[in-house]
Amino acid sequence: MLDIHDYNGQHALQAAPMAQFRAIVLDGRQAMSVLGQDGSVLFEKADDGTGGRPEAQRADLRQIPLAALPHDTVRRGRNATGARLLGGGRHEVTFTDGSSVTTRVLIGADGT
Ligand SMILES: Cc1cc2nc3c(=O)[nH]c(=O)nc-3n(C[C@H](O)[C@H](O)[C@H](O)COP(=O)(O)OP(=O)(O)OC[C@H]3O[C@@H](n4cnc5c(N)ncnc54)[C@H](O)[C@@H]3O)c2cc1C
Repeated sequence: MLDIHDYNGQHALQAAPMAQFRAIVLDGRQAMSVLGQDGSVLFEKADDGTGGRPEAQRADLRQIPLAALPHDTVRRGRNATGARLLGGGRHEVTFTDGSSVTTRVLIGADGT
């Protein structure tokens, strides 16, 4: 589950039709309650649809940018083992299966 903030994640999604994003938003997930140690409700705010961090399933969200890419752009199961500069702005990336690719644009994002 991922909440998509209006100050960063939603900007990234502007490139996709907003209707696609709205279609995957889970209604009611911005409701908030703060309880005391005895379970008493100290604060409660309903989801009225105006909040700035609607939530969506991560898998549904991933489908939006993936669907916008040409077929076969994303290759799964290829673990990168290294990258090196080739000169002239080009880079080589090597993989555990012994294959390699050269590219002029290399972005590293090995995750959180
Ligand atoms: C529990 C949790 C909850 C979160 N909730 C939210 C939220 O509600 N809202 C929000 O905005 N953010 C949230 N985040 C943060 C968000 O998930 C990350 O900021 C985001 O996923 C980072 O994207 P990324 O592309 O940098 O990394 P990732 O999404 O982690 O992707 C990196 C990818 O690189 C792959 N990889 C790693 N090493 C190699 C290698 N050597 N070769 C090939 N591939 C490799 C990994 O397998 C992975 O698929 C949450 C994070 C966590 C852990």
